[in-house]
Amino acid sequence: MEMICIRCPNSCVLKVEKKKGKIVVSGNLCPRGEEYGIQEVTDPRRTITSVKQIKGGTISVRTTVAVQKKLYFDVLKAIKDAPIKKTYNVGDIIIKNVCGTSSNIIVTGVNILPKNK
Ligand code: SF4
Repeated sequence: MEMICIRCPNSCVLKVEKKKGKIVVSGNLCPRGEEYGIQEVTDPRRTITSVKQIKGGTISVRTTVAVQKKLYFDVLKAIKDAPIKKTYNVGDIIIKNVCGTSSNIIVTGVNILPKNK
Protein backbone atom coordinates (compact mmCIF):
# COMPACT_ATOMS: atom_id res chain seq x y z
CA MET A 1 0.00 0.00 0.00
CA GLU A 2 1.25 3.47 -0.85
CA MET A 3 0.49 6.56 1.21
CA ILE A 4 1.83 10.03 1.75
CA CYS A 5 3.31 10.82 5.15
CA ILE A 6 1.59 13.89 6.57
CA ARG A 7 3.86 14.42 9.57
CA CYS A 8 5.85 17.20 7.84
CA PRO A 9 5.85 19.22 4.58
CA ASN A 10 8.29 16.81 2.87
CA SER A 11 5.29 14.57 2.07
CA CYS A 12 7.33 11.41 1.60
CA VAL A 13 5.62 8.69 -0.42
CA LEU A 14 5.60 5.65 1.84
CA LYS A 15 5.30 2.04 0.78
CA VAL A 16 3.79 -0.07 3.56
CA GLU A 17 3.99 -3.83 3.16
CA LYS A 18 3.56 -6.90 5.31
CA LYS A 19 6.64 -9.14 5.14
CA LYS A 20 6.85 -12.33 7.18
CA GLY A 21 4.09 -11.09 9.47
CA LYS A 22 5.82 -7.78 10.10
CA ILE A 23 4.83 -4.35 8.77
CA VAL A 24 7.68 -2.85 6.77
CA VAL A 25 7.74 0.82 5.76
CA SER A 26 10.00 2.23 3.06
CA GLY A 27 10.30 5.62 1.33
CA ASN A 28 10.45 7.53 4.62
CA LEU A 29 13.20 10.07 5.16
CA CYS A 30 12.98 9.83 8.94
CA PRO A 31 11.67 7.50 11.69
CA ARG A 32 8.45 9.49 12.03
CA GLY A 33 7.40 8.19 8.61
CA GLU A 34 7.79 4.59 9.73
CA GLU A 35 5.72 5.32 12.83
CA TYR A 36 3.06 7.04 10.69
CA GLY A 37 2.89 4.20 8.14
CA ILE A 38 2.50 1.54 10.82
CA GLN A 39 -0.14 3.55 12.65
CA GLU A 40 -2.09 4.20 9.44
CA VAL A 41 -2.53 0.47 8.80
CA THR A 42 -3.03 -0.60 12.42
CA ASP A 43 -4.79 2.28 14.23
CA PRO A 44 -5.40 5.34 12.03
CA ARG A 45 -6.07 8.57 13.94
CA ARG A 46 -7.06 12.09 12.99
CA THR A 47 -7.43 15.49 14.60
CA ILE A 48 -11.08 16.38 14.05
CA THR A 49 -12.22 19.94 13.42
CA SER A 50 -15.78 21.17 13.22
CA VAL A 51 -18.07 24.16 13.53
CA LYS A 52 -20.87 24.33 16.10
CA GLN A 53 -23.83 26.63 15.95
CA ILE A 54 -24.34 28.74 19.07
CA LYS A 55 -26.74 31.52 19.94
CA GLY A 56 -25.99 34.38 17.53
CA GLY A 57 -23.15 32.71 15.64
CA THR A 58 -20.78 29.77 15.52
CA ILE A 59 -17.68 28.44 17.22
CA SER A 60 -14.94 26.45 15.56
CA VAL A 61 -13.64 23.51 17.57
CA ARG A 62 -11.10 20.71 17.36
CA THR A 63 -9.89 17.67 19.26
CA THR A 64 -6.85 18.30 21.43
CA VAL A 65 -5.21 15.10 20.21
CA ALA A 66 -5.82 12.83 17.25
CA VAL A 67 -8.60 10.30 17.84
CA GLN A 68 -9.31 6.96 16.21
CA LYS A 69 -10.61 7.53 12.70
CA LYS A 70 -13.50 5.10 13.29
CA LEU A 71 -14.87 7.51 15.94
CA TYR A 72 -15.14 10.41 13.48
CA PHE A 73 -18.95 10.52 13.25
CA ASP A 74 -19.41 9.81 16.99
CA VAL A 75 -17.18 12.80 17.81
CA LEU A 76 -19.09 15.05 15.38
CA LYS A 77 -22.38 14.01 17.00
CA ALA A 78 -20.99 14.69 20.49
CA ILE A 79 -19.95 18.18 19.34
CA LYS A 80 -23.39 18.81 17.84
CA ASP A 81 -25.14 17.59 21.01
CA ALA A 82 -22.93 19.48 23.49
CA PRO A 83 -24.94 21.98 25.56
CA ILE A 84 -24.71 25.58 24.42
CA LYS A 85 -23.24 28.07 26.90
CA LYS A 86 -23.87 31.82 27.08
CA THR A 87 -20.29 32.78 26.21
CA TYR A 88 -17.25 31.14 24.69
CA ASN A 89 -13.56 31.98 24.58
CA VAL A 90 -10.79 30.48 22.50
CA GLY A 91 -9.29 27.61 24.47
CA ASP A 92 -12.47 26.71 26.38
CA ILE A 93 -13.00 22.99 26.74
CA ILE A 94 -16.56 22.18 25.66
CA ILE A 95 -16.27 18.38 26.01
CA LYS A 96 -13.79 16.46 28.18
CA ASN A 97 -12.70 12.96 27.18
CA VAL A 98 -14.90 12.99 24.08
CA CYS A 99 -16.36 9.55 23.27
CA GLY A 100 -14.10 7.92 25.84
CA THR A 101 -10.92 9.01 24.09
CA SER A 102 -8.29 10.97 25.98
CA SER A 103 -9.03 13.97 23.80
CA ASN A 104 -10.96 17.08 24.76
CA ILE A 105 -12.89 19.33 22.39
CA ILE A 106 -11.63 22.90 22.59
CA VAL A 107 -12.80 26.15 21.06
CA THR A 108 -10.47 27.51 18.37
CA GLY A 109 -12.56 30.46 17.22
CA VAL A 110 -15.71 32.41 18.11
CA ASN A 111 -17.75 34.04 15.36
CA ILE A 112 -20.66 36.14 16.60
CA LEU A 113 -22.79 37.70 13.89
CA PRO A 114 -23.55 41.41 14.26
CA LYS A 115 -27.07 42.09 15.48
CA ASN A 116 -29.48 43.77 13.06
CA LYS A 117 -30.83 47.09 14.32
S1 SF4 B 1 8.90 10.52 6.64
FE1 SF4 B 1 9.79 12.13 7.91
S2 SF4 B 1 10.61 13.59 6.44
FE2 SF4 B 1 9.17 12.28 5.31
S3 SF4 B 1 7.18 13.40 5.42
FE3 SF4 B 1 7.25 11.95 7.14
S4 SF4 B 1 8.02 13.15 8.85
FE4 SF4 B 1 8.54 14.25 6.99
